[in-house]
Amino acid sequence: MVTIRLTNSMTHRKEEFVPFDAENVRMYVCGPTVYDRAHLGNARPVVVFDVLYRLLRQVYGAEHVTYVRNFTDVDDKINAKAAETGRDIRAITDETIGWYHADMDALGALRPDHEPRATEYIGAMIAMIDGLIAKGHAYAANGHVLFRVRSYAGYGALSGRSVDDMIAGARVEVAPFKEDPMDFVLWKPSEPGVPGWESPWGFGRPGWHIECSAMSRELLGETFDIHGGGLDLQFPHHENEIAQSCCAHGCEADAAGKPQGFARTWLHNEMLLVEGKKMSKSLGNFFTVRDLLDDDTSGAEIRYVFMMTHYRSPMDWTSEKAVTAGSKLRDYLMIGSRFADLEVARKTRVATQVIDALSDDLNTHLALVEVDRLLGKAEWNEFVSTLDFLGLIPFERFEAMQSVLKAADAKIYDWTQRLISLRAEAKTTKDFSAVDLLKSQLADAGVKVQMSQTEIELIPGPNFDPAKLEALK
Ligand code: AMP
Ligand code: ZN
Repeated sequence: MVTIRLTNSMTHRKEEFVPFDAENVRMYVCGPTVYDRAHLGNARPVVVFDVLYRLLRQVYGAEHVTYVRNFTDVDDKINAKAAETGRDIRAITDETIGWYHADMDALGALRPDHEPRATEYIGAMIAMIDGLIAKGHAYAANGHVLFRVRSYAGYGALSGRSVDDMIAGARVEVAPFKEDPMDFVLWKPSEPGVPGWESPWGFGRPGWHIECSAMSRELLGETFDIHGGGLDLQFPHHENEIAQSCCAHGCEADAAGKPQGFARTWLHNEMLLVEGKKMSKSLGNFFTVRDLLDDDTSGAEIRYVFMMTHYRSPMDWTSEKAVTAGSKLRDYLMIGSRFADLEVARKTRVATQVIDALSDDLNTHLALVEVDRLLGKAEWNEFVSTLDFLGLIPFERFEAMQSVLKAADAKIYDWTQRLISLRAEAKTTKDFSAVDLLKSQLADAGVKVQMSQTEIELIPGPNFDPAKLEALK
């Protein structure tokens, strides 16, 4: 079996990945808060963890991997949006989830096996909070329930900071009812007009962190293999998840202060920049995935650009990279469609070099270099099967392009004959203008013209436009 190695943010080491149960490899990734379109940065963890999901499915078998990514559908930003627009919360979150699905599907990301909505797990959250209070890890005060950070010795293990350092550096919310400034909210009261649920501590709603602890336990169990998200979530979100889950499950920190149990491997993707700068509305370089898709950048191009950079490095989105990605992908699509036998390709295994690259801490950059090298091997079925596996060009795209090429066959034949006779005529009249005109019209339709002394061949290239060929007169 292939050995996967991943850099664990908990240990800062590249470790051999050994699942608890190879029959059920389990991964949890923190998903979006659903009040608006996903911006380009939000798409980075989606692509990173989709690549990992595909790799795990390849290595352990698709039916032996469970991937959970939540939707945070209870949050103050959602409440603010509802107040601002006068719309119903459920209408806003449903609509946003629909957009998210459409946009992430366009990036070739497989849907996770479970996409729990926080609001469907309130009961599980209340039960977990109740258990934490019973064990002395949390306390109710002033309609709130707070987690007692100093009751958990492993706090700070993931982000590598001590509680005292955190207090000095963090903008912690000071409240008179908190025992300690670091204590964080598990439950808070809801005012009228804001979503809330009945609980032992009054009508209220959960804090953000508890949802992931409750949902991962419900869907993956107390201990699972991989927990992922963007680097911005490492502290405080993931630190708090660990504290809650480990205290609820009774898994204490070891002598070195590392938590035992809960998630074994922690993975964090670095952040996305745009043309070298942090993406922000004030800099005018903020855009959503949908903005790009509507502006003629394909989802596959976005995915390719993301894959050019290793997930643990900051990645810079530039329009120049998108152009490079577009031309590579058009080339690959045309070459695969012309030369592969798609029925055979569907059964052909993915190139070993690509699997090896991804198995080495998801080296997507090397995987793309290896795809390019496959061109030299001329193993077209392996080439197509690998592009499908990487989520860059699915088999269906190749099939569709093959049909287009097949449908254009008769036209290509006709124009080849026409060019042959025009050239023969031109050789006697010495007037090549008609030949040149037709050649440039064909080039405009993306058809390459290869002429030798004896033969003429027309080849649809990466920019082939069947509609233009059809319209040619
Ligand atoms: P949010 O909806 O803000 O909780 O974010 C959803 C996911 O997107 C989280 O995993 C974040 O870490 C990730 N994320 C947000 N902004 C960026 C960014 N600029 N680059 C990479 N990942 C990001
Ligand atoms: Zn989370």
